[in-house]
Parts: sequence; C-alpha cells; structure tokens
Amino acid sequence: MSLSLALLGKIIWVLGVVAWYFIRRPFARRAKRLRVVSDQRSMRDRFGLAAAIIGLAIIPGIYVFTGFPLSADYLLSPLSVVIGAALYVAAMWIFRRTHKELGKNWSISLEIREKHELISAGPYALIRHPMYTSFLLMALGQAFLLANWFVGLAGLVGFAILFFLRVDKEEQMMLEFFGPQYRDYMNRTKRIIPYLY
Ligand code: SAH
Repeated sequence: MSLSLALLGKIIWVLGVVAWYFIRRPFARRAKRLRVVSDQRSMRDRFGLAAAIIGLAIIPGIYVFTGFPLSADYLLSPLSVVIGAALYVAAMWIFRRTHKELGKNWSISLEIREKHELISAGPYALIRHPMYTSFLLMALGQAFLLANWFVGLAGLVGFAILFFLRVDKEEQMMLEFFGPQYRDYMNRTKRIIPYLY
C-alpha cells in the first residue's frame, strides 16, 4: 500500500512539473521578442533562481527517478497525497492566471519591458506576488507528495531563498519605475498571502 502511494505521489509531482513547463513555455518564447528597458538581473537574483530550480526541480527530480536519499524516506498516507495533489492543482491554476494577467509584462527575472504596465487585476488585486504564492504552494505540495524529509525541505528552502533575495529588490524596482502608482498599489495589497502577509 505505502509503495503504490509513494509511486502515485511521484507520478502526480511529475505531471505537475510537465504542466508547469507547458503553462510557461508560450510566455517565455514571447518574452524573448520584447525589448527590455531596465535589466535588474544581478548575481543575487541568479543565485535565488538557481536555488529555486535546485530545490523545486532538480533535487525532487533526482529523488523521483533514483530514490536518493533513501535514508530520509517516510511513509505517505492517502490523505497526504490528496492534500499534495490539491496544493499542486491550486499552484498550477494560480501560476497560469498570473501568466495570463501579466502577459507581455512577464519576465523570469527582474526586468522592466518596453511599455511596461502595472497589473493590478485578477490575483494581483489582492497580492503583489501571486506567482511566488504559486511557488510556495508547489513547495508545500512537493512536501506532501514526495515522502522524503530532505526533498520536502529542499522545495521550501529553494522557494524561501528565491523569495527573500528577490522580493525587496522587485518592489524597489517597481517603485522606481511606477512611483506613487506602485506606492498606492502596495497600500492596497499584501505580498503573497491575501489579507495577511
Ligand atoms: N512578483 C510577481 C511577478 C513575477 S515575474 C508575482 O509573483 O506574481 C517578475 C517580473 O514581473 C518582474 O520583472 C516585474 O517586471 C514584473 N512585475 C511584477 N509585478 C508586476 C505588476 N504588478 N505589474 C506588472 N509587472 C509586474
């Protein structure tokens, strides 16, 4: 029973990553064609992105395909697979909404594009960083779907490194570019958890 549940958790995780890739692909392609007017990519931001990729894709990917590190395994319950799947579905739904809403303004990193508009609709009406919320939900989903302490923590640590290295810089960049418009927007919204934080 526990073996097949573990396998089910891994299959759902892989499907989640595939969905992630296909949601992002058209935006990443289009972004290549749009001119960047202010590029704030720094070593710090690259490090954050790398940490997120390692924690949310590479470490869990190695675990799914090799079982490494076996010593940190724990038993999954059916409930945790259900919770993990629900978190992943929610994460993908928000991830997709944020891409649709940001449209031409999306970047993998910190950049201002030509004719950049401030988006404050859809998920952006309540929180300033719903895409990062979706990463947090993915990290939590990973901890529920993959029955391994190391792998579960890796996702959360990877998310935290990216988020905390980036969020102040991103808001500072938006403030410099949009001024009072972004200041007002900040006063109306939270960062990643509606009404709380
Ligand atoms: N932090 C946001 C966006 C992540 S993508 C989120 O979590 O949903 C990163 C890029 O999005 C940044 O380079 C910035 O140019 C752009 N961006 C961030 N917030 C934005 C907003 N409210 N409107 C338009 N562009 C935004």
